[in-house]
Amino acid sequence: MVKQIFFDLGLTLVHNDMPHRYQTAFQQIGQDISLSQASRAYHLANKYFMRERQGALSQKSESVVSDFHRCVCQYLGAESVWKDFSNQLKQMERPVWRCFDFTLNMLDELNNMGIKTGLISNWDLSCRKVLEKNDILSRLNCVVVSEEVGTEKPDEKIFQEALRLTGADPSECFYVGDNYYDDYIGSQKVSMPCAIINYQGKLGIEEVDCPIVIEQASEVVDLMKKHLMTE
Ligand SMILES: [Mg+2]
Repeated sequence: MVKQIFFDLGLTLVHNDMPHRYQTAFQQIGQDISLSQASRAYHLANKYFMRERQGALSQKSESVVSDFHRCVCQYLGAESVWKDFSNQLKQMERPVWRCFDFTLNMLDELNNMGIKTGLISNWDLSCRKVLEKNDILSRLNCVVVSEEVGTEKPDEKIFQEALRLTGADPSECFYVGDNYYDDYIGSQKVSMPCAIINYQGKLGIEEVDCPIVIEQASEVVDLMKKHLMTE
């Protein structure tokens, strides 16, 4: 029986408005792209970096950010404008992380089912502020942040720290995240079952072998209800 679910944070419990920003930046350099084109390119660039540049996204260095913008433009078939696009984006304010529409209800529903909810995140020291501002913090029984504990996913130590803090057994836990290489590979090192979130089926993660792929974290509520019924 699942007693504890741990979540990833970015693009699992919270999202930013990058696709909107991409659309605006393209408008500013005189080109039109739709929001769905921008969302798709953002998704594919994220998946490319998760696979080919593991660990780079959490560094947020200037050169990684530039490379990411170039990658987005490649997926949009607009590589020739990537420098102008990147300059427009760098002039904008830092992106804000907000809850998905379903996040708080999902956490409440799981808690009402008797399932505790925690966080294991590769994030800097701003993590708890993001959680607090979004009313998430009070809904979690355990928060493990990479920069606070000095180890990051997919290292098994960060998962072991969450298990130590909650006293939970991995067989009674479940993990939900959007990065196969950090979230799935990492959780498997401590034998914790895991679901991976991915946009549009397996778009961008065709190479991975993960038994449970869902479109958004809220689907975990139904997964848990089915799981309870089959016990
Ligand atoms: Mg994530």
